[in-house]
Amino acid sequence: MKKKEKKNPGADMICSVSELVNLVKQGQDILGVLSTMVSIVCRHTEADACSIYLYNEKKKKLVLQASAGLNPELTGNFSMSLDEGLIGLTLKELRPVCESKGQDNPAFKPIPNSGEEQYTSFLAIPIVRGSHRVGVLALQDREPAQFTESDIQQLQAIASQLSPILESAQLLIEIPEKYQQPRKELKPVSLIRGTPVVEGVAIGEAYYIEGPEADSSFITAYDTGYSETIEGFHSAIARTEEQLETLQAQLEEELTDVASLIFSSHMLMLRDAGFSGAMEKLIKEGTAPSEAVIKVANDYISIFSASSNPRMREKMQDTKDLGHRILKNLIQNRADTGNYSGHIVLTNELLPSELLKLAAQKVEGIVLFGGGTTAHINVLASSLHVPLIFTEDENLFNIPSAANLALDALEGVLFVQPDQAVLKRLKQLKAGAERLEHQENEIQEKTFTADGERIYLRAAVNLISDLQLAQRFKAEGIGLYRSEFPFLIRSDVPTEEEQYRIYRIVIRALGHPLATLRTLDVGGDKTLSYIPDTEEANPFLGLRGIRFLLKNRLILAAQLRAMIRAGGTRKPLRILFPLISSLDDFRDAKNVVEYSLKKLEKEGHGRFPFPKLGAMIELPSAVEMAQELAQEADFLSLGTNDLIQYMLGIDRTNEKVASLYDTCHPSVLRAVVRVAEAAREARCPLSVCGTMGSDPCSIYFMMGLGIKEFTMPPSRIPAIQTQVVKMKYKQAQKDAKHIASLGTLTEVRKFLTESAIT
Ligand code: PEP
Ligand code: MG
Repeated sequence: MKKKEKKNPGADMICSVSELVNLVKQGQDILGVLSTMVSIVCRHTEADACSIYLYNEKKKKLVLQASAGLNPELTGNFSMSLDEGLIGLTLKELRPVCESKGQDNPAFKPIPNSGEEQYTSFLAIPIVRGSHRVGVLALQDREPAQFTESDIQQLQAIASQLSPILESAQLLIEIPEKYQQPRKELKPVSLIRGTPVVEGVAIGEAYYIEGPEADSSFITAYDTGYSETIEGFHSAIARTEEQLETLQAQLEEELTDVASLIFSSHMLMLRDAGFSGAMEKLIKEGTAPSEAVIKVANDYISIFSASSNPRMREKMQDTKDLGHRILKNLIQNRADTGNYSGHIVLTNELLPSELLKLAAQKVEGIVLFGGGTTAHINVLASSLHVPLIFTEDENLFNIPSAANLALDALEGVLFVQPDQAVLKRLKQLKAGAERLEHQENEIQEKTFTADGERIYLRAAVNLISDLQLAQRFKAEGIGLYRSEFPFLIRSDVPTEEEQYRIYRIVIRALGHPLATLRTLDVGGDKTLSYIPDTEEANPFLGLRGIRFLLKNRLILAAQLRAMIRAGGTRKPLRILFPLISSLDDFRDAKNVVEYSLKKLEKEGHGRFPFPKLGAMIELPSAVEMAQELAQEADFLSLGTNDLIQYMLGIDRTNEKVASLYDTCHPSVLRAVVRVAEAAREARCPLSVCGTMGSDPCSIYFMMGLGIKEFTMPPSRIPAIQTQVVKMKYKQAQKDAKHIASLGTLTEVRKFLTESAIT
């Protein structure tokens, strides 16, 4: 391959996959893996030097993380921007840079004290994963003009082989760095501010899911008094198995729709010869049971942690949970169940299934760091009633593990080592919130304004478990059932039968004839992990909602069949299509309903009534088409969460622009006016869901436009009813006209908050 004589001719594929996998499995630390990697590449390419630079996205720097042939003291300590040197150029322009004499390139920038003066030839390849910049792999050689076109191709092949591992390395190196660096500079933390996602109050000890210490992913013996006999080990395993079965059973009872085998990986692992079997073997060879548990669990953790796949990361957490659980059970007669009760979890990432597991294990509250949270985490956490805040404050990871915390998720504040006064106040708040939860006796069956206009408060249901609260708070039917959660949490598409069982429960739960089932709304920030190629540069502008379903018609047809069957002959079952942008979308979806009805009849399932079909108005294009849609659809539903996002061009999950996401924006209000007029003219029922559907000021305005159906999380019904009964419909009509004529956010806000409803 190179001009100088080959020591290893014919070695085409430089690194075999098994060689790489072994590298990781050997359990070296990540820097050890990188250093072995550069030696292997050097050996195979016969270059005199090989280096790996990983890109630190946050600092916008390429950091030298491993090298064979450069001064080893620079490793981890030398960095450059994308505008510096040939290495920067490679990643900036995302192309190979090959020079017979590197120093001759005008972009060349010497690295001081690196020892690179001895090298002349230069070849660097960018490493990317999808659209994500990972780093640069570089070769250098003493001889000039050593690298050829075929070397470029070969190094590109190596880079692509190495890229998954390098991406994990990038992640793993950055995580501790993220937490450790600021820690040196920052004072002890007493307070973390964030945004409330799920309101509530929690008190407990700090528990990191992704730890601040580099090694915190591993489990350690933090207790004493372990029973160090083989019998003790056997009974710890039996107890663990029992606890997992109970947890699984409780979840199945409470969360029938999403909890299918949520603790399965714990159970499988527990029964696996490679896991508990390996522990037993070590014990028989003389290792103490607690040490055997720690050793085997940590071996598994290190393998899983080498992957950048979030599912693997979840497995790592499962292993950690399981290891802790067995260890706790090794202490005889211990009352502790190994649950998260008494703990507030701090983490920078959370999968829906992880959230379910934490909730099942009685976590008190959660603080989520960085980069915006996803809709399904927000919605799930709120259905699970887990107080949750979201923060951008890196100080979160300066909080020592097990520190006492108090979380005020009403205000979005986490208190570290709170004093007695704070604790007292939060305990009172908590008691107050619990009292509010029990006010169902005060709720009226029907809601009227002060001047006698009938208003309908319907439930937005995400999980079957929400139905209980909807019933308690006397929701007048289900205005929106978001069907995506069973799809998001399970590891593959639920079957038609599974869906049928879930929808039947939803339809029957309230004993009210109105049930609106929305077809699957995935895409955006709600992606299905088991559908390939879901990565998109702009997911909210991508294959979302009805667009996804019309491209995956088998999924749509199965879902419609399940819904129609669940509706039975009962009327009116309402089916709602999300993210409709045109009449064509709506007709296309309606055709699938017609087809499904005919097919069901042909298969002998019986003759079902044609469901009422609705379109969600949540895109500016749908606002433009509201007249036509109102004429053709049986009902319309304003999805204000998305309407605001798309009208204002604000990513609803991006914390940086969250303050601009405003229900009072005149353009949003005027869009609502147009939709309300279109619906009134076509005599098409119109309801409102999303943020504005449970915000008293917005309700006042929309009521003034003649909208009378509002869909909200069941927990909001008591507070909204209390407000609505004080409002005057006739006054709202006059005020709505005035509000819609206002040209600034400030004026709207001032009018709504000061003069209208208080
Ligand atoms: C909305 O967009 O307002 C809505 C109700 O749908 P979702 O929040 O599920 O996107
Ligand atoms: Mg929406």
